[in-house]
Amino acid sequence: MNLLQYKTIVLKIGSSLIVDSKNKIKKNWFTKLIEDILFLHKHKKKVIIVSSGAIALGCDLLKINKKNVKLSQFQAIAAVGQIELINLFKKFFEKKKIKISQILLTLDDTEERRRSLNAKETINNLLKMSVMPIVNENDTVGTSEIRYGDNDRLAARVAQICNADCLIMLSDVNGLYSQDPKKNQFAKIIKKVEKIDKKIENLATKSISAYGTGGMITKIKAAKICMQSGCDMILTNGSINNPIKNIAKNKNFTLFKAKSSSLNAKKQWILNSLSTKGSISIDDGAEKALLNGKSLLPIGVTAVEGTFKRGDAIYIINSKKKKLQPEFQRTLVKMLKKLKDLKQIKLKKY
Ligand code: GLU
Repeated sequence: MNLLQYKTIVLKIGSSLIVDSKNKIKKNWFTKLIEDILFLHKHKKKVIIVSSGAIALGCDLLKINKKNVKLSQFQAIAAVGQIELINLFKKFFEKKKIKISQILLTLDDTEERRRSLNAKETINNLLKMSVMPIVNENDTVGTSEIRYGDNDRLAARVAQICNADCLIMLSDVNGLYSQDPKKNQFAKIIKKVEKIDKKIENLATKSISAYGTGGMITKIKAAKICMQSGCDMILTNGSINNPIKNIAKNKNFTLFKAKSSSLNAKKQWILNSLSTKGSISIDDGAEKALLNGKSLLPIGVTAVEGTFKRGDAIYIINSKKKKLQPEFQRTLVKMLKKLKDLKQIKLKKY
């Protein structure tokens, strides 16, 4: 596997890699990880880190057992642990004279177009100044309905927003297995996935996914976001020393190969939005027009479902009650004066 083919690499680091089973920092592993990042820098690769660990480090500092904690407590614990996490990166990167930055994102920051563009701009400016961007979810203000909860999908969305061409997901699993490796000795790592279909989704059953916050299910969701955005995703076990350099030698990983995407950045962003606020149904004429690249006019809208406002992503359903094919499946509401009056809805062509 040649990682040097990529230009911009997002590196997702799971909590379990940073700390051992006793919540103690794995210093040697950290030093080796930084070596790997320097190797990528030496080859002019842009690197963005998405790292978990705020809650694990917060629990350690406050001597709290993670198992007994409610979400509201997690928010407070993350506020403590995020300082530990970023200081840890600072300490290790400083030794190599690399400056770091902290970017805390909420779900809204990636799901609202303007805010996602701001995040992209900030990350790009940091990269231009040779500062390492280190992203995490802003766990302190996230409630259950408005948070990612897992950094897998956050990392994929960051990769998509920043036009990265590779997301390396360093996890505590070797890759996606054909069966549960704990139960079946013949389980094999699937080397390459080119399409995420029901068969692949079914592999991420609960039994194979008892790893990390999101498990395999969110890893597959993350892969889907990446693949639809022209970004390859590599899922590998990051717990070994020099986890990135090892991808080249080690055959234990799954490559989720992106299709070359014909969609522009904005369409990719809409397609991968995590929260759709409703749907509109359209007639056959409107569907035909849309598939031919024309705008959707209010006259073709037959029904509206959900409550949405300007800027929200919504699904488009055809007369057979099916979502339109992925690239036409969603649209952004441009202007919405009165929900009840269909004639007042102006939908933006995308
Ligand atoms: N944002 C969480 C943290 O820093 C981690 C979420 C996850 O495990 O993916 O602790």
